[in-house]
Amino acid sequence: MLTIREYKKVQSLEEAWELNQKRANRVIGGMMWMRLGDSNFQTAIDLSGLGLDTIEETEDEFRIGCMVTLRQLETHPGFVSYTQNMCKESLRHIVGVQFRNLATVGGSIYGRYGFSDVLTLLIGLDSYVELYKGGIVPLREFAKGKPDNDILVQIIIKKHPVAMYYEAVRITQTDLPVLTCCGVHDKENGTYTISIGARPSRAVIVPDEKQLLKEKLTTNAIEAYAKYAAEVVPTDSNMRGSREYRSHLVEVLSRRALEQLCEEESKAC
Ligand SMILES: Cc1cc2nc3c(=O)[nH]c(=O)nc-3n(C[C@H](O)[C@H](O)[C@H](O)COP(=O)(O)OP(=O)(O)OC[C@H]3O[C@@H](n4cnc5c(N)ncnc54)[C@H](O)[C@@H]3O)c2cc1C
Repeated sequence: MLTIREYKKVQSLEEAWELNQKRANRVIGGMMWMRLGDSNFQTAIDLSGLGLDTIEETEDEFRIGCMVTLRQLETHPGFVSYTQNMCKESLRHIVGVQFRNLATVGGSIYGRYGFSDVLTLLIGLDSYVELYKGGIVPLREFAKGKPDNDILVQIIIKKHPVAMYYEAVRITQTDLPVLTCCGVHDKENGTYTISIGARPSRAVIVPDEKQLLKEKLTTNAIEAYAKYAAEVVPTDSNMRGSREYRSHLVEVLSRRALEQLCEEESKAC
């Protein structure tokens, strides 16, 4: 059971940060994950009065406030169009619409959950987190770190001309995923990025040390990269799947993502 002694709707980020320095206090997002825990908090720090529940789109970037809900992200016309519906594809399996109306992007990213579709999607893009004290940090770096007492203010996504692909494997609809995969083709600099999550650990970018994706994508290069991905992405077993099954999925989903991206760009490939 979750027990909270006091509730504070803060008036500023400074107030939130000061309260959050006490170990017994906790920032609350949508509380959808937190409420499942068996914890005892002194003060719940509510950021909902700080206007951090909007998605701002400019020519160069998206700024997604930490209190933006997953449903807002999933239905934002600009973000849906930018990701070619892949934000919808990645989020639609998360429990249900009512749930996604409450769960926040800030809580999802701050939590750095191993199973996270949200992290797998965003880490593949040119994305950053803005921390109140820690400043702007690439999401790829933030995702590797340990939770601390800072406040995640917003997520910034720099716009590039991209093509995207997203796929998650689930045993049943709305369950946590067995494996997640996001592919991004940055048409500006010609790079391909594959992120894999639910390994079951946190999402990672598959490195391209052999430079297989640098040249024009060929069937052989895709095959070789997918096999290489299965070798280098660490996987493990849990109740949803074995290590071997997950590594097999890494290969299949990486290949499929690259094939789809290549098909999109068929004239260029
Ligand atoms: C039953 C269930 C099924 C789920 N299935 C999936 C799934 O399939 N795929 C998926 O991607 N996700 C899934 N999730 C996770 C969900 O999408 C959210 O990521 C999760 O609920 C956290 O978001 P929240 O707003 O509820 O955060 P909360 O539970 O309120 O907070 C989570 C953590 O983040 C901290 N926090 C929140 N906001 C901030 C902030 N601004 N600054 C600093 N710290 C902060 C809190 O202190 C807490 O430690 C599932 C969750 C549940 C409960």
